[in-house]
Amino acid sequence: MLESTYFFCPTCNIERKFHRDGVNHVLHLVLGILTGGLWLVSWLALTIGHYYEPWTCNSCERTHQRPTAVKK
Ligand SMILES: [Zn+2]
Repeated sequence: MLESTYFFCPTCNIERKFHRDGVNHVLHLVLGILTGGLWLVSWLALTIGHYYEPWTCNSCERTHQRPTAVKK
């Protein structure tokens, strides 16, 4: 599963579409049920870790963090 978003790419110097691999929440839900809830701890850790993963620009293939500042 692929996630995509748009933000300003410092390499291209223009707003670009970015992508990264998403978390397979269905798989984690199944594992959570199969392990009687034990897997939910790993799922939570993976989801938090995933939040900090960088995005890859579709045009230049360079990775960047999504800017946190809201553009005005
Ligand atoms: Zn780029």
